[in-house]
Amino acid sequence: MKVIIVGGSFAGIHCAIKVKELYPSFDVVLIEKKTKIGYIPSGLSMLLNGEIDSLEEAYFMTKKELEKTGINVLTDTEVLSYDFKGKTIDTTKGLMSFDKLVLATGSSQKSSKMEDDFDHIKTYKDKESAEQTLNALSNVDEVIVIGAGQAGMELASGLIYQGKKVHVIETMDYPLYKYFDKDFLKSFYTATGDIPNMTFHFSETVKEIDESRLVLSNGKTMNITDKMVLSANSVRPELSIFNHQLRANSDNTLYVDDYLETSVSDVYAIGDLIQVPSFLFHARVYAPLIVNAVQTSMTCAKNIVKKKETLRPMLKTVGIKLFNHYLASTGLMESEGFLYDAEVKSVIITLPISTVSKKEVSIKLVYDGKNYHLLGVQLISKEPILDKINTFALMIKERIDIRNLSQLPHFYNAVFANTSLGLPDVFGKGDDLGEI
Ligand SMILES: Cc1cc2nc3c(=O)[nH]c(=O)nc-3n(C[C@H](O)[C@H](O)[C@H](O)COP(=O)(O)OP(=O)(O)OC[C@H]3O[C@@H](n4cnc5c(N)ncnc54)[C@H](O)[C@@H]3O)c2cc1C
Repeated sequence: MKVIIVGGSFAGIHCAIKVKELYPSFDVVLIEKKTKIGYIPSGLSMLLNGEIDSLEEAYFMTKKELEKTGINVLTDTEVLSYDFKGKTIDTTKGLMSFDKLVLATGSSQKSSKMEDDFDHIKTYKDKESAEQTLNALSNVDEVIVIGAGQAGMELASGLIYQGKKVHVIETMDYPLYKYFDKDFLKSFYTATGDIPNMTFHFSETVKEIDESRLVLSNGKTMNITDKMVLSANSVRPELSIFNHQLRANSDNTLYVDDYLETSVSDVYAIGDLIQVPSFLFHARVYAPLIVNAVQTSMTCAKNIVKKKETLRPMLKTVGIKLFNHYLASTGLMESEGFLYDAEVKSVIITLPISTVSKKEVSIKLVYDGKNYHLLGVQLISKEPILDKINTFALMIKERIDIRNLSQLPHFYNAVFANTSLGLPDVFGKGDDLGEI
């Protein structure tokens, strides 16, 4: 049995490893158009923020490591066209046939809205574009970042750290709107307003751009001859190469069934190409995150011979470090409450991070107003609290009643733990949790 997997990033690599582990006798081939596999898309931000010293460190897996598992890895090989029914693909290294095909070609930062002017706007999701952007950065003092999502904000944070003057253009009226409620984030983005050299242009889009100027939707024109413009818009899959042979969803993602099979037998799609089922609403959502790329790849591998395990519903969970703040979010936001079946309530609490530290963590708990099940959590602190969000994600998946939080076992250590976190009188103070 020959399994070809196209795309050497999080989804493709994890799928290849799992298929080989489950079926050692299969001929598993991973195809990647770049010269190396396993580049981490936030490599440029990590470098600018001083977390790594060179883009060479921004790889989570090498070709050599993957080949050790018995997988045939073809780098520098681009798939040019697909004949899904005839079970062949045409590549820059010739025609190849398959028994099973997994599409893991992901998404790009390309903006369909600014297609014609894209040459003026730099991207950085892959190593080559990140390298070019990095080189060009040394010639400019001022950078315009389009998009104040996770990627855009991480980049802005890194650019400020590097002493650049930064403008961020965002359609919404506050940053990180996909993961944080505006009320909860207010103190953070108000604080970013005090950062010298940082300017936000909220509720604005790019109306026009050419070699010399960028025009905002409010008509304001910015001279860009001495600046760099970077796209950190939401990523989207590129489906045109599939030439309408596969069914697509209305949001231009690929349709797959619960077992990750596309509309054509023996052809599967995973990672940033597809939607995932939401744990909290009866719907599928586009959530281009690494955890989803890995989970879809695992489920796909298990179903590649026989359909036996459906894809489990997902929570969107993120953790971000920006301008010396740690921000994390999981599950439902209050602003998404209209998508949820029952009444959604919330409470915000602020606590010292531990018994000895004066530094605080602010927590927003979003819960079902009827049965008190925890639905979503947002955290902000100047202390590294990011990994705590994983515990909250587990609590949401376990449908924990927040009135029972204090009953859950947790360790105590003066430096690391705060005994008041989770106690009922903290959650009961001045809010409408009712009798606890
Ligand atoms: C700047 C940035 C920062 C991010 N930070 C985070 C983060 O902190 N946490 C998080 O969870 N998510 C983050 N994400 C999202 C995350 O990167 C994606 O969800 C993840 O990379 C998806 O993995 P994938 O394997 O599906 O696709 P991709 O990573 O897009 O990989 C697709 C691969 O397919 C290859 N390919 C495409 N077409 C062909 C072809 N025709 N032939 C051969 N090969 C092909 C590409 O070269 C690429 O290597 C970030 C995204 C960006 C853009």
